Amino acid sequence: TAIYADIEQKDEAINAFITLNKEQALAAAEQADQIGYGSDAPVLNGIPLAIKDNILTEGLRTTAASKMLENFVPTYDATVIAKLKAAGAIIIGKVNMDEFAMGGSNQTSYFGPVHNPWDLERVPGGSSGGSAAVVASQQVPGALGTDTGGSVRNPAAFNGLVGMKPTYGTVSRLGVISFGSSLDQVGPLTHTVADNALLLEVIAGHDEGDSTSLPTEQYDFSSKIGQDLKGMKIAFPKEYKVDSINTEIRQRMQEAADFFESQGATVEEVSLPHSVYGINVYYIIASSEASSNLQRYDGIRYGYRSEAAQTLEEVYVQSRSEGFGDEVKRRIILGTFSLSAGAFDLYFKKAAQVRTLIKQEFQAVFDQYDLIMGPTTTSTAFLIGGKETKDPVEMYTADLLTVNSNLTGLPAISIPAGLDQAGLPIGLQLMAKAQDEATLYQVAHAFE
Ligand code: GLN
Repeated sequence: TAIYADIEQKDEAINAFITLNKEQALAAAEQADQIGYGSDAPVLNGIPLAIKDNILTEGLRTTAASKMLENFVPTYDATVIAKLKAAGAIIIGKVNMDEFAMGGSNQTSYFGPVHNPWDLERVPGGSSGGSAAVVASQQVPGALGTDTGGSVRNPAAFNGLVGMKPTYGTVSRLGVISFGSSLDQVGPLTHTVADNALLLEVIAGHDEGDSTSLPTEQYDFSSKIGQDLKGMKIAFPKEYKVDSINTEIRQRMQEAADFFESQGATVEEVSLPHSVYGINVYYIIASSEASSNLQRYDGIRYGYRSEAAQTLEEVYVQSRSEGFGDEVKRRIILGTFSLSAGAFDLYFKKAAQVRTLIKQEFQAVFDQYDLIMGPTTTSTAFLIGGKETKDPVEMYTADLLTVNSNLTGLPAISIPAGLDQAGLPIGLQLMAKAQDEATLYQVAHAFE
């Protein structure tokens, strides 16, 4: 009850919650109280969490922040939700995001923008902007987001939080509304590294309901936390030191590199020449996969149906025209074009080829190094409705530093690296070999 009173007070200015789960949550809290907090209690017993609104929750509205799913109430829980509930967590409510997770600043939501708790005139990042804002404003201690091209790490960076995009296949996608199926992963947002590792341990693990899920049944992400960094080899690519990255962010990265060296790690400059094309590749592949995934919103099976439609064709066309926002339509058009017979070889196929080159390049660095470091974002949180948000292409370039982890499937974490002179948080991004989240958490913890 106290949490909901707090939310009522804080969230009016932030606009992070779309749907509250009061009744179910209070019942779950009572149950958690009965179990108590002894050593045999489930690991998250009684812990209140918020969930991005593209993750299905049984009996609780799930909108993907779209008019298309404004009244959609799922009949089952996503695997991650079932796992959280089994671990005793309490789902406080569903939080705002960019529509269908398409965006990097939480400004494409049907339910309006989310305001960054550090400065209400600024964006919280995206697309998991609500997930970050509720944690940063201390409404809940943790939240789940999804990351297709940076959507957990970018808002973590803009809100001074820890955000993890695990290795592709670590967390089940069953019951997660699909955007780019070869890129999507669920990840936690928290204040501390240890909390993050714990949450990820709970939601990770093989799921036969997701054919891309890795075979590992149970993960240990926490055991290296507290170990020192002696002998660790860290690569700092020169592509992550360029002028298009804000000077204060670059300074903070150099300080982080110096810190790692002071702890006994070595930091060396490497080059990832194809990494700069990641952004082009990502927007072709993500949009292509989205155009295919979003075909299911046809106004018939579920979702919004236009009142005005008379014929079958009109049901499709008008329901989609009225139900989707501009950014979602832009992606569907872009993706459909990239996959069309005349454009396929030039766009989708080329993008898939360059994706392979990028993977090989990262692989070559990881043959010699344990980690790659760099900034999470090129700037700190910008103004809602500001000039950089007017041009979609400029918005897309903001994902420059995060998309490669999705394209390669490799794990990446964003951790707080201090504030800039305006008092806004800066994020440090660390990337590791596949299934080496434990090292990410180890190094992240040493830095915090
Ligand atoms: N900002 C990126 C995009 O707009 C990433 C989104 C995401 O990771 N869901 O596609």
